[in-house]
Amino acid sequence: MDYSDCKLCPRACGVDREAGEFGFCGAGSKLKIYRYGPHFGEEPPFSGENGSGTIFFSHCTLGCQYCQNFPWSQDGAGKEYSCEEFADILIGLAKEKCHNWNLVSPTSWLPDVKNGIDIAKKAGFFLPILYNTSGFECEKSLDDMAGIVDIYVTDLRYSKNESAKELSGAENYVESARAALLKMVEQVGHLRVDAAGIAVSGVVCRILVLPGRADEAADSLRWLKENVGRDIHISVMSQYTPTYNACEFDEMNRMLYRDEYEMVCDVAEELEFYNGWIQDFIPDEGVDDELVGYNMKS
Ligand code: SF4
Repeated sequence: MDYSDCKLCPRACGVDREAGEFGFCGAGSKLKIYRYGPHFGEEPPFSGENGSGTIFFSHCTLGCQYCQNFPWSQDGAGKEYSCEEFADILIGLAKEKCHNWNLVSPTSWLPDVKNGIDIAKKAGFFLPILYNTSGFECEKSLDDMAGIVDIYVTDLRYSKNESAKELSGAENYVESARAALLKMVEQVGHLRVDAAGIAVSGVVCRILVLPGRADEAADSLRWLKENVGRDIHISVMSQYTPTYNACEFDEMNRMLYRDEYEMVCDVAEELEFYNGWIQDFIPDEGVDDELVGYNMKS
């Protein structure tokens, strides 16, 4: 696994990043990270009391035109780290007693991510590894991470590839994200927590409801029920806020309407999902980057 002939994600650019070429995501051959630290805005089993040990990687394989992390995901802000330095970050988060190592959009960097984790483990540090992704993953990369990743937090962002193409430049998102989710469930099963309610393994599927596209969120829930079942943990989110280039796209220049969000919540209830969280209606509550409220659904 390296960066030559890069096919780490479904774009399969085939560029030689080791030789200085760049593919869609713009990542080079030196691991780049924007920021890291304990994070308290994840779902309760991940944030717990001490926070999720979150590492925000630079660059992203999905090109969302509304990305709230655009300075580093789209514009590539960040600092280069060696694998040993990355391992030191992991060790530092473990020493801070974070509940997991939360890798946010790690896909462009999997060879270095694997090496860094290996170094940290050989130094005697172990936390559950949480792979936090838009869902735009290829099965080969997930196969390579089998046995390393404990928890997948993934998205089903779109149910129509026309939307995925328009808003994220990914015309094969739907089939890729759905196949990836099935593979994740096959690898680590449904969410399991310890006696203190902290996640140890399993999958959570996030449904970020987009303005004007609530029907796609509802479609994703129907697909999930039919293909995975109602036992999976879902996290339905209302926090969409227009940012980056969102204003250039129909309906994306506004917060959600309450009725479109409630429609999706009603569908989740009708489908009898019973594990997971329904986020408060954020347009009424205001958005706080660190503390986003979730209501335990059951
Ligand atoms: S990780 Fe980046 S360069 Fe590699 S296939 Fe995906 S988008 Fe292309």
